[in-house]
Amino acid sequence: MLVKDRGKSIRIRKLEVMQRRVIKLHPKYLIMEDELSGRLAGHFGEQSNDYFLKPFRNFSVMHDLRLTAHESYFQIDTLLLSPRYLLNLEVKYITGTLIFDHLNQVIRVKDDGSEEAFRNPIFQVKRQQSHLIEWMTKNRTPPIPVRSLVVMSNPRTIIKALPSNKDVLHYITHSPYLQEKIKVIDKMYTDEKLTIKEVNKLSKMLVRHHVPENPDLLKRYGIEDKDIIKGVYCTECFYLPVVRKKAVWLCPKCLHKSKDLHLYSLSDYVLLFGKSITNKQLCEFLCLSSRHIGKRLLNDMNLPHTGGKKGRVYTLPDPY
Ligand SMILES: [Zn+2]
Repeated sequence: MLVKDRGKSIRIRKLEVMQRRVIKLHPKYLIMEDELSGRLAGHFGEQSNDYFLKPFRNFSVMHDLRLTAHESYFQIDTLLLSPRYLLNLEVKYITGTLIFDHLNQVIRVKDDGSEEAFRNPIFQVKRQQSHLIEWMTKNRTPPIPVRSLVVMSNPRTIIKALPSNKDVLHYITHSPYLQEKIKVIDKMYTDEKLTIKEVNKLSKMLVRHHVPENPDLLKRYGIEDKDIIKGVYCTECFYLPVVRKKAVWLCPKCLHKSKDLHLYSLSDYVLLFGKSITNKQLCEFLCLSSRHIGKRLLNDMNLPHTGGKKGRVYTLPDPY
């Protein structure tokens, strides 16, 4: 049973808006695009892995959980809940070869032969597991064993380790073998620690405590207002900016016409700057020729607002 689905993270959605709206000459543009493509590969890797979870209908499945630990947060890609144990899955889409050496270092050898140090995913899942156990103790949930696995979602990733490295065998699996691995783990935990009702209660509690990540990427990449391309973009061909003629948006490139295109660009605004907006800010962001048009668009959206007629602040809806 799917309890919590995954969508594209706020971080990916912000990066997509930045790819569209930050000037290409910005010194950090390529680094930002690199981050986006890496995170999209991870996202699609996690999604493709969901296919291998389909046979496990008796588990409650939660994706993309972010919970507090001490002053910080920990994240879990996929959590399977059963009355006998919980299974934490960290999905990795990696190209090339991963070598686990005798010093617990992980080296990634890319297809071109170059090497780079890689964060040890086994340490990562062990840390998540102890954070999760701590979290459950703190929230007084009934004790239940937790297991963790690193799932390699790219079937072409090669794992190399010394035969003495038991951790690799214990913690790492390729997604096509995940079912077999879960069957083995299943046989190890035969005692029911929770009732179905308690499992449901625990999953509801986890959903309630989930804190979506909302990083300030403009600050991190040093992007200023002047680096952002303004205007309304075309949802068909992504051309920016489209023109407004007789209260209709018209894309000069693909000739797509719509009355509502500004709503998608305001969704970009929310991801870049947050939900509060004044008419002046709206006019500047959408490149409107008069504040009367801005006022009309804001009125049509029927948004909650504060303040008098001058300098009124509107609250935009959540991004699409
Ligand atoms: Zn277009």
